[in-house]
Amino acid sequence: MNCIVYARVSTDKQAEKDLSIPAQLEAMRSYARQHGWTIAREFIEPGASAKTTGRPALQGLLSLVRDSKSKIDVLLVHKVDRLARNVYDHATIKVLLKQHDIRLASVVENLDDSVPGQLVENIMASIAQFYSANLSEETRKGMRQKVLKGGWPHRPPRGYVTVKDRGGHDSHIQVHPREGPLVLRAFELYSTGWYSMTALTNRLAKDGLISSSGGPIPKSHMYRMLTNRFYSGRVRWKDLDVQGLHPVLVPQALFDRVRSVIQKRYRHPGAKARVAGFPLRGFAICARCRGRMTGEWRKRWGYYRCSRQSYRRELCDARLCNVKRAHADLERICQQVRLHRSTAAAIQRAAELEIARSAASRTQRMSDIQTGRAALVTAEMRLTDAFTDGDVSPEIYKSKTADLRTKRIQLEEDSTRLSIDPAAVGAKVKETLDVATALWDLYEAFDDAKRAELLRSVFSSIVLGHEGIVGFSLKAPFDKLASMDKDRLQQAGTNEKGELVHAILDAA
Ligand SMILES: [Zn+2]
Repeated sequence: MNCIVYARVSTDKQAEKDLSIPAQLEAMRSYARQHGWTIAREFIEPGASAKTTGRPALQGLLSLVRDSKSKIDVLLVHKVDRLARNVYDHATIKVLLKQHDIRLASVVENLDDSVPGQLVENIMASIAQFYSANLSEETRKGMRQKVLKGGWPHRPPRGYVTVKDRGGHDSHIQVHPREGPLVLRAFELYSTGWYSMTALTNRLAKDGLISSSGGPIPKSHMYRMLTNRFYSGRVRWKDLDVQGLHPVLVPQALFDRVRSVIQKRYRHPGAKARVAGFPLRGFAICARCRGRMTGEWRKRWGYYRCSRQSYRRELCDARLCNVKRAHADLERICQQVRLHRSTAAAIQRAAELEIARSAASRTQRMSDIQTGRAALVTAEMRLTDAFTDGDVSPEIYKSKTADLRTKRIQLEEDSTRLSIDPAAVGAKVKETLDVATALWDLYEAFDDAKRAELLRSVFSSIVLGHEGIVGFSLKAPFDKLASMDKDRLQQAGTNEKGELVHAILDAA
């Protein structure tokens, strides 16, 4: 009889009691000798876990099994759990063996194709699966417990170091004697607002905070560092956010100062206009892949280029877009969506009337809202009583509560709207209309940063292709204003006018 053997050790620490590969081979060779089998091939899987069947030696073994010319009679393992750690894999392999008339044998377990033999085999496979699943579950539980107590289950960030306690079983996190002060320095320098990310990484590299390649640490690492709340003492892990046991490296006040500097700078990523002349940079998206567009100068020509494409990353093959073409399109669109002055004036008058009307009825509407709230509470109580008494079915209860919730949300919205100062609303409407009437004039008068801000407040998206702007969408209320002209406004009934004004008010 021809026999093949398969040996594997798992990398799990818990598997230390397993036999080593040579010991497994030794046991299998002697077992084969006793049964008078010839070993045709030995498959050895060093150091792989059995969780997946994607193991090279096992794959080789299975392809040999599938080969009808191979003339194999027995597959011998030391223990069944060496082969697969879940019932499904085990069954798949088992079926394959059966198709090719190959017996599975184990040195340790007594397997044969009799009913009791199969039962033992299945039980063994189930136990192996339980063990494997339980192990990862236990690990997860252990990590969670650690975090709940304020510990950190991973390697700490830069500036900290893990120190083993005396017994060697436990460890705690300390400030790294050399790097800790450097990290603190990074926070202090950045909080002044005088340093760009690049200047900061360069400056700290001189002091000794360097990457593994010896240069300044990447800007993205620095950004992550400056926003990592671990330094101010918090531990955030999955859904948990607790006070950590580790020493605070960056005082909360300093951390907050740095955060406000970052928020100021990164509110509009790409709008910093380091590269002048590209107001659409970081805002417009690529027509091909929806990635952000960036800008660059090539000789004397400016181009918008998809940020997913560069000499190092070739994730998109969209062609460049000449800035002149893009900006000409932008002007055309701004002129096209611009609101005519007389239309704006008519809207302004309608808005003022609406605001005055709403101010006049304010007291009445406030008391209506109060009454409405009280009525809702009563209705909810009645409904709950009817439900608990069994007079209302769960389906009806559910749909009626949903109705009541919708009504309540409406009431709260009305109430919020009423609480806004009418003068402030009037000013906001005027500002919105000014932008809508003078979009391109404003744009031309602004510098890059303000242009970018203006575009972001009017457009929700601008899509750039090689041929220029190939699509755009407007933010509320500019979307409604753009479709409005004087004639339409005159024809519009009070309702439509009211809706338009409300669209502006909502946006305000
Ligand atoms: Zn692209």
